[in-house]
Amino acid sequence: MDIKDYPDIQDLRALIRFSEKDGTIWLAENRMVLMHNASLAALRKELIDSVGRDHARRVLTRMGFASGVRDAELAKRVRAGRSLEDGFFVGPQLHMLEGVARVVPVALEIDVPAGHFYGEFFWESSWEAEAQVADYGNDPEPACWMHIGHASGYASAFMDRFILFREVECAASGANHCRIVGKPVEAWDDAAEYTPYFEADSLLNRLLELRHQVDYLRSSIVQQTLTPHMVGASHAFRQAYDLVQKAAASNVSVLLLGETGVGKERFARTLHALSARKNGPFVAINCAALPHDLIESELFGAEKGAYTGAQAARMGKFERADGGTLFLDEIGELPLAAQAKLLRVLQEGEIERLGDDRTRKINVRLVTATNVNLHEAVGQGRFRADLYYRLNVYPIHIPPLRERIADIPPLVEAMLERFYTLHEKRLLGVTDKAMQFLKAHPWPGNIRELENMLERGVILAPQGGWIEVEHLFSHIPQAGEQDAAVCSAGHLQVEDSTEAGALVERFFSSGLSLEQLEAMLLNESVRRAEGNMACAARKLGITRPQLAYRLKKEPGACASSAPH
Ligand SMILES: [Zn+2]
Repeated sequence: MDIKDYPDIQDLRALIRFSEKDGTIWLAENRMVLMHNASLAALRKELIDSVGRDHARRVLTRMGFASGVRDAELAKRVRAGRSLEDGFFVGPQLHMLEGVARVVPVALEIDVPAGHFYGEFFWESSWEAEAQVADYGNDPEPACWMHIGHASGYASAFMDRFILFREVECAASGANHCRIVGKPVEAWDDAAEYTPYFEADSLLNRLLELRHQVDYLRSSIVQQTLTPHMVGASHAFRQAYDLVQKAAASNVSVLLLGETGVGKERFARTLHALSARKNGPFVAINCAALPHDLIESELFGAEKGAYTGAQAARMGKFERADGGTLFLDEIGELPLAAQAKLLRVLQEGEIERLGDDRTRKINVRLVTATNVNLHEAVGQGRFRADLYYRLNVYPIHIPPLRERIADIPPLVEAMLERFYTLHEKRLLGVTDKAMQFLKAHPWPGNIRELENMLERGVILAPQGGWIEVEHLFSHIPQAGEQDAAVCSAGHLQVEDSTEAGALVERFFSSGLSLEQLEAMLLNESVRRAEGNMACAARKLGITRPQLAYRLKKEPGACASSAPH
């Protein structure tokens, strides 16, 4: 089969973004790194010398395989709707764009439904062959292991079956260029010689096994100290958590402070779970969610007929929490009358139901929470000072999410697991780019906002795929817009969409008038077209007569180059 030329590479080139101010480079949503060829070659040599050629080959093959799989995911999207061949060529074209080698197609037969694949390519200037020769001299065996891994990973992900590529000639063994052939693994008679390089290294397996053991042991230790709800390792989180842990040992009233959505109830539950009361009840109530006239009966209970509608005697939350913990959220919303009663309960250690003159002893640990400044509320007469001092014995500030960025990846992981189960979906996770956006978001709604956003992402992302920025943010933040891209000449330049903005900025700061700018554009266009008026007009997006008219009109424009 004859191979036509590669399709235009502009669509792939446009996926590369250099975001200098963030210190990141992107290939679509995959974070990339521009590194020295020499350092990669040094890593390769170090690997070969330390673990031996076979292990090194395996590691490099698998590393290439992983990047091939990533590129194939991109290929499926970027040229959807184009011919299968154009779609497949994303792989070789990306390989070139990534600076691996020049890939020349020799033959390509693809039939996805039939599972048929035959691919043959030349590689010229393979960096890996060059590195091999530089470090070890000519080698009888092909040495482009990472590249073979990439080609195999790419074709396998593209075809959805294991396609094994092999190097039948290699520049590292003295050939003019490398030549690779790829077929489904079962179509190779001697596949068994090569497939081990695609399997997890036994040395790595052993390490992984030990690692799993360590993880298991560590998690069982962590579980003893951390309840499963709590995820976090940042300094800010640990500080709050340590305070909770210390408070749990005593019976002190705890006041949890923090913005809305930071997870105050989870901290309260954790405090309960860590305390000696852990086998008793945990009762939570949100003071802001109840109508004022019902709060007292909710908290303290009521006897039959205590108020209109009280058909039967009922227990309040204090009685229900007896022997355990009572969590009062948004305590700042408690009406003054209820505040007085609450204070008495705390002082006496007993409650009185509405419409009852009996008192009942209760043994409750009180945890309160607020997102308003209670001290201010006291100053404004909305909150009793004596109750405030009673509650504020042991305040714990729960940090907002933006102060615990290090916790975002583990939180995301834990939440995603939950949503996968809830929505019966299996996804690959969030892309590097999406994670970067998550880390940069200010999170006014804190953990709750993160939860909502991830749930939305899980619902919107395609089954088996990645959660991308657009699945999370309904309005994509502007952060990426100042990125530089690669133009057709291979130079870095600011992306088209922002070029307009930059141009406008530059125009305003230039002090030029609109007429002067127009004259400049007209003249420059004529000059560049070497006086060809039709060509100059086309560049400006106007007709030739329009250009001639404007040139005549502009006093500053010199139509010195006579029209051809
Ligand atoms: Zn080679």
